[in-house]
Amino acid sequence: MESDFSLNGVSHRRLNPLTGEWVLVSPQRLARPWQGQVEAPVTENLSSYDPSCYLCPGNARAGGAHNPQYSSTFVFDNDFPALQAQIPRASERSGENDFIVEVSERGICRVGCFSPRHDLTLARMSVCEIEAVIEMWIAQCKDLDTKEFVHYVQIFENRGAMMGASNPHPHCQIWGTESLPNEVVKEQRSLKKYLKAHRSCLLCDYAEYETRKAERLVFRDNQFIVVVPFWAFWPFETLIISQHHVPDLANLQPIGRRGLARTLQRITRCYDQLFNLSFPYSMGFHQQPVKEGSHPEWHLHAHFYPPLLRSASIRKFMVGFEMLGTPQRDITPESAAARLREICSRIGGD
Ligand SMILES: [Zn+2]
Ligand SMILES: [Zn+2]
Ligand SMILES: [Zn+2]
Repeated sequence: MESDFSLNGVSHRRLNPLTGEWVLVSPQRLARPWQGQVEAPVTENLSSYDPSCYLCPGNARAGGAHNPQYSSTFVFDNDFPALQAQIPRASERSGENDFIVEVSERGICRVGCFSPRHDLTLARMSVCEIEAVIEMWIAQCKDLDTKEFVHYVQIFENRGAMMGASNPHPHCQIWGTESLPNEVVKEQRSLKKYLKAHRSCLLCDYAEYETRKAERLVFRDNQFIVVVPFWAFWPFETLIISQHHVPDLANLQPIGRRGLARTLQRITRCYDQLFNLSFPYSMGFHQQPVKEGSHPEWHLHAHFYPPLLRSASIRKFMVGFEMLGTPQRDITPESAAARLREICSRIGGD
């Protein structure tokens, strides 16, 4: 028996079934006065080409390489990679104690430009142009799978100076890592546990539940569903879930790739209209590890984590109790979803 959730007026905890961690929800705190930091609204007035941008076609990068005159997407090895492929392999622990533990980590860090245009964003690109970006992601996943030591491919985009993006040129990062990243380890453990207990997929079941309940649904089509998840931590966080049980981007059929392009365009346009600015966020995909056998538990999805809370100028910080205790949010996922849903209902694609 499902009962309607009745804790929306009082503080409560919600479980994130993907990570097994709790989020504290404090809807009553929204009424408190704000005397904290106010971010200046970012007015972006960019030209389509910036001679000083290291991502624009034809320009020089650090280290002397020059970008080709690319006309669609373009991928290159990061000139300042966080991970390196050619390093000595170190032992797992010193053996003297249990608190000094280190393991060598090999990896490949690439940068993927979405477009030659310096002034575009996913929200301002056409569905066809975003489809080319998805094809680039899939090609990269397949290429990194051929590297003997790569076990996971993490694709992510940091959008906006507020998220630490150093360059407004539309681009993402693609990291092939030797070990599974922390978030992926947590999710894989939960997805496996759920599959074993229920003989069905956690995200298939969750997408079906949210479609039926509709209160956290932002929009959906035949290929993807977008929700503010029940356990969302960031104010306008969304989860994009494939409507079909596919383990990774590479297994998306052409119709699924097109659906994903439409979905990415629509949610980013919706975000831009929420506070009337080019919306900052970190987003990325979670999918099955590469070259590790079959993973019936994995279900392709993407997370959008935007930091803005109440306007273009008020952002959420993860500090205090959240760093030392449990992440906490004020605005409920249901009210965030209602605002996004209302905006998305007015937005068409192209
Ligand atoms: Zn540029
Ligand atoms: Zn599934
Ligand atoms: Zn995930």
